[in-house]
Amino acid sequence: MSDRRPYLVSRLQGFGTTIFAEMSALAVETGSVNLGQGFPDTDGPPEVLEAAVAAIGAGHNQYPPSPGIPALRGAIAEHQRHWYGLEYDAATEVVVTAGATEAIAATLLALCETGDEVVTFEPYYDSYAAGIAMAGAERRVVPLRAPDYSFAVDDLRAAITPRTRLILLNSPHNPTGKVFTHDELAAIADVCIEHDLVAVTDEVYEHIVFDGEHVPLATLPGMRDRTLTISSGGKTFSCTGWKIGWACGSPDLVAAVQTAKQYLSFTSGTPFQHAIAVGLGLPDPVFQGLADDLRVKRDHLSAGLAAAGLEVLPTSGTYFVTVDIRSVGEADGLAFCRALPDRCGVVAVPNVVFYDDRAAGAPLVRFAFCKRLDVIDEAVTRLKRIA
Ligand code: PMP
Ligand code: GLN
Repeated sequence: MSDRRPYLVSRLQGFGTTIFAEMSALAVETGSVNLGQGFPDTDGPPEVLEAAVAAIGAGHNQYPPSPGIPALRGAIAEHQRHWYGLEYDAATEVVVTAGATEAIAATLLALCETGDEVVTFEPYYDSYAAGIAMAGAERRVVPLRAPDYSFAVDDLRAAITPRTRLILLNSPHNPTGKVFTHDELAAIADVCIEHDLVAVTDEVYEHIVFDGEHVPLATLPGMRDRTLTISSGGKTFSCTGWKIGWACGSPDLVAAVQTAKQYLSFTSGTPFQHAIAVGLGLPDPVFQGLADDLRVKRDHLSAGLAAAGLEVLPTSGTYFVTVDIRSVGEADGLAFCRALPDRCGVVAVPNVVFYDDRAAGAPLVRFAFCKRLDVIDEAVTRLKRIA
């Protein structure tokens, strides 16, 4: 037996393969309906698709400037102004990244010293834990408690220590579909200001809200210059494979992210940058239409899951709805999801992978409804076999 050191560094051990990769592979292997990984099965606005094709035809195929093409940075700044009244200088306060994923990773790498702490809410999107680990930082989680996924401000305050560097917030929230309320955001802002913390917000589902309203944390008093606002075009324009993301914030925060980002991807997706710039400038009804379409799908899948005997937790945004499988006499969501393709021909995602508190996440399972209604119907018909 070799006593050679493992190739994978200790800080990445335990991350294995993401649940999305595992479950999408299982869906292909078993011919199941894939309600696991969150990607739409229809294309986004034709103007956006045509703009990408046109950009390739027009020869926009070489490296763009590392922080992103000026047209896209301008469109992002204009989008923030138009939707939220947030003013950013396109040249110094906006950076384009390879999806929100790179923006999150570059931010953590840029801002965290080894041993710094990052506070985030549990359940948390899987790349946060990995990004925090890659940065040599440590995560501290504040529980969001089912079924309404509210948090106790005391829990948030208790998570803050002298080593806390930043608070990483996702709203609308994956996997719960929670949209943080203005009061909750105000409580987070108070803590950031009191402890002089940076806030990093992941707003990739900003245009997918069914109940309530998406409020960027950066719009709250005192938060604009201490918040890095991250989003991407993947969800808004139904093109998750394009991986065009961005971060907006004060020049010093954006310069820090850009320093890390230039040595990760340097740059990416020139023609897609052109296309997302076109997309961000589309009229408001295009954005509202996305939420309206997904609201119908949410309601359709939620009703179908309930008809299959599953307790459905409310969801106010994103692509996702969570069920509690104790309603069908089960307790282990991971085992449930691994067996579901054989039992029913459907793939879902066990929420436990988004939890440190395994017991809290164990009975929860996430289904994606960003699918055609006939696909949702087929999944629901198959899921009736659970009972
Ligand atoms: N944050 C959240 C909460 C997500 O669900 C996702 C997955 N799409 C991402 C970030 C990653 O976004 P992107 O595909 O733009 O990297
Ligand atoms: N964000 C997507 C989801 O939550 C998955 C993205 C990925 O596969 N990394 O389903």
